[in-house]
Amino acid sequence: MQIPVSSINYKGRDIDILRLDMANLPIGGNKYYKLKYNLEKMKAAGIKTVLTFGGAFSNHICTLAIACSEFDISGISVIRGEDDRKNPILNYARSLGMQLYFITREEYKNKETTEFLRQMKKRFGDFFHLPEGGTNSNAVKGCSEILSGRENVHDLIFCPVGTGGTLAGLISTPGLTSRVIGVSVLRGEDQHTEKIKCLLKENEIINSNWEIDTRFHLGGYAKYNPELIDFITWFQNEFGILADPVYTGKMFYSIFHLIDNNYLSTDKKIMAIHTGGLMGWEGWQYRFEHQSPKN
Ligand SMILES: *Cc1c(COP(=O)(O)O)cnc(C)c1O
Repeated sequence: MQIPVSSINYKGRDIDILRLDMANLPIGGNKYYKLKYNLEKMKAAGIKTVLTFGGAFSNHICTLAIACSEFDISGISVIRGEDDRKNPILNYARSLGMQLYFITREEYKNKETTEFLRQMKKRFGDFFHLPEGGTNSNAVKGCSEILSGRENVHDLIFCPVGTGGTLAGLISTPGLTSRVIGVSVLRGEDQHTEKIKCLLKENEIINSNWEIDTRFHLGGYAKYNPELIDFITWFQNEFGILADPVYTGKMFYSIFHLIDNNYLSTDKKIMAIHTGGLMGWEGWQYRFEHQSPKN
């Protein structure tokens, strides 16, 4: 599959952008790669129900709902927090037939325990367990195909990091030696590195040339400030590319910050992966109307 690339120039640096947001994929963005082998596994095992976890504005829940309706799978999402009948993301998932089950933030912390999963089986019957964000070894395998055909064209490859599944996949791209820089969009410094190492245990091909930049989460997951929103607006006006406010906005912001401060020399070939997520604007809009950016 041919993924389009946009090339932009900023202060003398060429930046290639791999447009997963523009690719003709059955499900948008990086979530296609994360779901691909999970859906295949389910199909092969004849399992028709999937249960997953996420926050109330999760792109993962949204894309999984699309996949479920497309492939005739019944989906159950265990959501952190309370139901909100006005939340556009939850309503969209519901409208596609996704079943939503709400648990408290406290319960959510223990969601991946055997005991909790046993309770869920009691309640919902048998299912395929897809961890939060869809991140597992199948997702890593799928994401190791994102760069397919473009390995080692660039010195630096940037991607946003949520659960780290996408980054883990990128660094297990066969033959890749380029440096991969994951821009963390959530607070919590170095849980990532551990998690990514865990995810990669089973994979044999690992590019050890990677790092996680923890400086650009802007307060944490889905937190933002006016500067980020101004940047995203400027970026769209300047280059005609829309970034999302939760993931790719922070990644592009980090790259431009590094260039502005002369951390990226002009001879480095840079690629940024636009992982999609534009549905995030709907949730952002909704939150923006109901609370101030400081919340
Ligand atoms: C889910 C998502 C990510 C994060 O992917 P992880 O594998 O969880 O790190 C990045 N970008 C977008 C647009 C997403 O929707």
